[in-house]
Amino acid sequence: MIEFDHVHKHFGRQVVIDDLSLRIESGEFFVLVGPSGSGKSTLLRTVNRLVPVDAGQVRIDGEDVVTRDAETLRRGIGYAIQSVGLFPHRTVAENIATVPRLLHWPPHEIRARTAELLALLHLDEPGMGSRYPHTLSGGQQQRVGVARALAARPRIVLMDEPFGALDPLTRESLQASLKAIQRDTGTTILFVTHDMDEAFGLGDRVGLMLDGGLVQVGSPLDLLHAPADDRVRDFVGGTR
Ligand code: ADP
Ligand code: MG
Repeated sequence: MIEFDHVHKHFGRQVVIDDLSLRIESGEFFVLVGPSGSGKSTLLRTVNRLVPVDAGQVRIDGEDVVTRDAETLRRGIGYAIQSVGLFPHRTVAENIATVPRLLHWPPHEIRARTAELLALLHLDEPGMGSRYPHTLSGGQQQRVGVARALAARPRIVLMDEPFGALDPLTRESLQASLKAIQRDTGTTILFVTHDMDEAFGLGDRVGLMLDGGLVQVGSPLDLLHAPADDRVRDFVGGTR
């Protein structure tokens, strides 16, 4: 469903993605894990063309993303990041409805979808939809960010350390919500984190990224019990 084919990216003289190839299957929860600066966010952002590649191709369903109009491409892909980036002057419901509105969904469908997402993400306190972001806790804001990314039922969702700023309990609760939604909907998720526990808890497969390359791709158990080399062993062992 998402293919990276010999992707290269450099900023100035620094090589950030170094000849990286990877196939992510439809319906898969794939986690890219690695230390800060290893190129995870850059790779993620090549999928929705926030970062143009220097060589190689990124394909969705076999089609190179550069052949698609960038706006259309981005509307079709959910994107959630750590600094939630909710629109402060829009209510929770309006924030969630952002992409469905751009896609001209009928108002009753938007209302129904918003109500469904508020329930799915445990944002079901009365009046939640009409509150403004600054009146919510960090965890609630992050839930709204996830709801917004999922609103138009995109087949692909990109998530860049979306739970990074949360306390452990809130984080675990959101991870469980996300995993359940992903399982129920068959959404393909590409999730970035520097936290090995998070990667192992969420990923069907995990790719360990170091210095712009993938050192090992496999199930959490593969990385744990059959590390490809010492760098994998150190990273897996060092953060657990
Ligand atoms: P990660 O998400 O794994 O922490 P990033 O993809 O954000 O890593 O960054 C990888 C490297 O690329 C870092 O050294 C970072 O400083 C550099 N980098 C990222 N974006 C830019 C940019 N727009 N301009 C210059 N350098 C960048
Ligand atoms: Mg990053």
